[in-house]
Amino acid sequence: MSKELHGKVAMVAGGTSGIGRETAVLLAKAGAKVVVAGRREKEGKETVELVRAAGGEGMFVKTDVSRAADVDALVQKTVEKFGRLDIAFNNAGIEETFVPIAEQSEENWDRIIDINLKGTWLCLKYEIRQMVKQGGGGAIVNMASVTGLIGAPGSAAYAASKHGVMGLTKSAALETARNGIRVNAVCPAVIETPMGERLFGEPEMHKAALGLHPLGRFGTPVEVAEAVVWMCSNRASFMTGQSIALDGGFLAGPNLLA
Ligand code: NAD
Repeated sequence: MSKELHGKVAMVAGGTSGIGRETAVLLAKAGAKVVVAGRREKEGKETVELVRAAGGEGMFVKTDVSRAADVDALVQKTVEKFGRLDIAFNNAGIEETFVPIAEQSEENWDRIIDINLKGTWLCLKYEIRQMVKQGGGGAIVNMASVTGLIGAPGSAAYAASKHGVMGLTKSAALETARNGIRVNAVCPAVIETPMGERLFGEPEMHKAALGLHPLGRFGTPVEVAEAVVWMCSNRASFMTGQSIALDGGFLAGPNLLA
């Protein structure tokens, strides 16, 4: 792999497993130094080990993205250790167990919105501050979902949080364009991660969810990571305020031939 991100400093929020972990490793392979942020110390350090095994340099910072003080400290520690911040993947997120709106608790709504939406806003806030302070330039990718574009019965809070991430992405892109900062989003359908397994592991759900993917399979974390690394590279230099769906055909339309 070419070292196109050599000299860049990247941060991956929610880098302790799944898509975030795979992206941290791919960013390192592309030459970036990688700060891994998340709540679980053991898993975070494991990701840093994988970053080192890929020939990169990395650091874990224990972070809950729903807490402003944590995210502020994360960016500060990144700058203390590596001198700057060029790339950020705001990927931390939680799923929702399927419950209709009429039966959803306020606690459930607050938890999802706090982590998925407020967490992304907090990440953007402190990342943009730092990128502007260091003279501008930078690339940020937010983790949305196909449910940032369409509804999800039984997961309304999750869908609302991911639609919110799309609004944040476009607004942040407009606010920072003249600072040379690009802000985009990825919208995956079902990806084989611990979250994918929790939601769709049970045979009936697995079969139903598989039927929504015309390619006939779920995606892999590296298939999302590839798009994120591309969006963070200069090869995507004219792309901002946009999103890429990695969905095996999910959003192309109802598949009457399936
Ligand atoms: P995952 O559960 O393996 O990863 C989620 C990551 O976010 C974990 O590292 C977790 O520890 C971290 N996280 C959760 N709450 C956090 C918090 N408050 N502070 C810091 N870190 C926190 O699952 P994944 O599938 O890799 O999910 C990554 C992202 O991709 C999520 O935002 C998810 O909504 C999104 N997504 C996943 C799928 C899928 O099918 N797997 C599809 C579309 C979007």
